[in-house]
Amino acid sequence: MQYSRILLKLSGESLAGNGNQGISDSILEEYAQQVIDILNIGCEVAIVVGGGNIFRGLSGTESGFDRVKGDQMGMLATVINSLALECAISRLGGKAKVFTSIRMEPVGELYNRDSVVEAMKNSTVCILAGGTGNPFFTTDTAAALRAVETGADVLLKGTRVDGVYSADPEKDPAAEKFDRISFDDVISRRLKVMDSTAFTMCRDNNMPIIVFDMNKSGNLKKLVEGEKIGTLVSAL
Ligand code: UDP
Repeated sequence: MQYSRILLKLSGESLAGNGNQGISDSILEEYAQQVIDILNIGCEVAIVVGGGNIFRGLSGTESGFDRVKGDQMGMLATVINSLALECAISRLGGKAKVFTSIRMEPVGELYNRDSVVEAMKNSTVCILAGGTGNPFFTTDTAAALRAVETGADVLLKGTRVDGVYSADPEKDPAAEKFDRISFDDVISRRLKVMDSTAFTMCRDNNMPIIVFDMNKSGNLKKLVEGEKIGTLVSAL
C-alpha cells in the first residue's frame, strides 16, 4: 500500500450524479463501496464532503442572501451529504462516523483531531462534516486543513474529471493532462486545482494532492495501492 492514511475530498456535485442537485443513490453506493474496498486493505480513511449539490453560500448572495447565513446553509448542506454517506457505508458493512465542525450532537460528534485519528486507527471511516465551521471558506479548504491536521499521507480530490489539464478539456481539444506537476507550476501556469486558500494550505505544509476520477470504479483502491492515476500535485 502506497498511502496508509488518506483524506478523501468529494464534491457535493459529484454526489448528485447526472443531475446537479440532490443525491444519487447509485453514486452514493458506488462511492461507499470504493471506500470500503480501501478500508479492507487496512487504509485509514477520513472524508470531507462538499455541499454544492444542495446549497452554496456564494450563489445564495446572488439571490439576496446574507453571505454569512448563506455559508451557514452551505455548511449544513455538507452535513446532509455526510449523513447520507455514513448511512451508505454502514449499509454495506463498513464502520463510519460523522464528526461535525459545529456542535450539533446527536447528529455527529464535535470534531476533535485526536478522536478522529483514534477512530481512523480503529478502521472507522471518519466523515468530517460542516467544512471548517467558518463562513467564507470552502470544503476544499476544510479538506486541506483536516489532511494536514490528521497527518494524512495525501489529499485525494475525487472529481468527475481525471486530472489537471493545461486548459479546460471540454473547451480546448489541445488541452493536455499532467501526470505530475509541482505546486509552483500550478501557480505560474494559473491552473485551477483548488481555491487559493486550500491550495496554499497544502503547499505550505507540503501536503501532496492527487486529482482523480472517482466515478471510475476501483480507482480509489488503485491509487492507494500506488497506481499512477490522475494528476499528482506535489513539491517535486
Ligand atoms: N462552506 C463554508 N465554510 C466552509 C466550507 C463550506 O461556509 O468551511 C459553505 C460555503 O457556502 C460553500 C458551501 O458550504 O459554498 C458548500 O461547500 P463547497 O462549495 O465547498 O462544496 P462543493 O463545491 O465541494 O460541493
